[in-house]
Amino acid sequence: MPRSEPIKAVRGVRDLLPRDRPLWRAAELAAVDVARRFGYEEITTPLIEHAELIERVGEDTDAVAKELYRFEDRGGRKLALRPEATAGVVRAYFEGHLNQEPQPARLYLIGPMFRYNRPQKGRYRQFFQLDVEAIGSGSPALDAEVIEIAITWLHDLGLGEVRMDLNTIGDAKCRPAYLDLLRAYYRPLKDKLHADCQRRLETNPLLLLDCKVPQCQPFKVDAPRITDHLCEECAAAWAAVRRLLDAAGIEYHLDPYLVRGLDYYTRTVFEIYPARAGGSQDALAGGGRYDGLAEAEGWPPTPGVGFASGLDRVTEMVKAVGVEVIAAPAADVLVLPDAGLEVAAAEVARICRAVRSVAVDYEAKSLKAKMRSANKLGARWVVLLSAEDVKQRTAQLKEMASGDQVAVAWDDLPARLA
Ligand code: AMP
Repeated sequence: MPRSEPIKAVRGVRDLLPRDRPLWRAAELAAVDVARRFGYEEITTPLIEHAELIERVGEDTDAVAKELYRFEDRGGRKLALRPEATAGVVRAYFEGHLNQEPQPARLYLIGPMFRYNRPQKGRYRQFFQLDVEAIGSGSPALDAEVIEIAITWLHDLGLGEVRMDLNTIGDAKCRPAYLDLLRAYYRPLKDKLHADCQRRLETNPLLLLDCKVPQCQPFKVDAPRITDHLCEECAAAWAAVRRLLDAAGIEYHLDPYLVRGLDYYTRTVFEIYPARAGGSQDALAGGGRYDGLAEAEGWPPTPGVGFASGLDRVTEMVKAVGVEVIAAPAADVLVLPDAGLEVAAAEVARICRAVRSVAVDYEAKSLKAKMRSANKLGARWVVLLSAEDVKQRTAQLKEMASGDQVAVAWDDLPARLA
């Protein structure tokens, strides 16, 4: 690369600039607020995990099979950048002995995830998720609870108009027999399916129901439905989840083709879309129960349920529906010293900082240009400093809105600005 060529950001990742952050911060604060209201506590897990942890629980899903950022560290360890949070949160639940505390552990996490997919709007290689997990209880009430958290969060952000798709995929007891039925149904149709579906027919036939490729669509309607083949426990849980959602006034749309690509998911699955989204639009959130995950990771069998929602998409959606987020100014007070008065300006700033956010404009430019910057910054006051002011330890305090200007002793500035 020639030296003159600036080095740009990696493909598929992006900066969240100061102009983006207020909306993101609002979305994060709303998530923290909802999580707290439901009694969920924050957890932070590493961005890197053993590749095996991710691969063992995500085999045959795109996020792992095709999109995993996998690398060796300098010690030759095979590591992966996390493509989702659940595997790591469950690992931390055991390693941190949360399983010995009152159950379930109600946890949430906000942070970056990584998938090597084809970047487009709403799809990035580094993206952020709100992840909510209730681990250590099989109660269907928790399925409804995490769904309510997701819906409440979106609602609080002004995204009341969403559609939730809901399904169940049974469990280790009833699913194997159902998968046999599904395979038996699809085998005679194998040649008509697209290549991935042909392969998945034997390895992971549930994914055939989720396939979006046009040539595979006509066969779905007559495919056997798991809801007709649930064991007693799964049927009872399925009824309970719907009853609880009804009682909470949460609307849902039963979608017999909604499945999760990960093997450890059991029973409830759900996805949340913008209300007027067509079939191909990306989900705002998705989740479900994963009673087989802990065991897949090598821990004692432990039930859990949760969801993940993409902050990139949610913030884009908030912007699209025109919800206004008012950004606080970068600084309430801007100190504008004449040239050569840096030391005094820094001292005045320090005094004002007791009560307000303060920035100093050290650039050598005209007062007019400095006032323009103050306006752009949204500062409420400017503090003008001349050599004469510094001698008398005074400053000219100007209120931007009114234009009123008064001479104030430095020590009186905090009282004036409070
Ligand atoms: P998943 O783990 O695939 O169910 O994803 C959960 C949520 O994360 C989705 O509903 C999206 O909101 C978000 N998400 C997943 N992949 C991406 C991506 N590549 N870029 C942005 N958001 C994503």
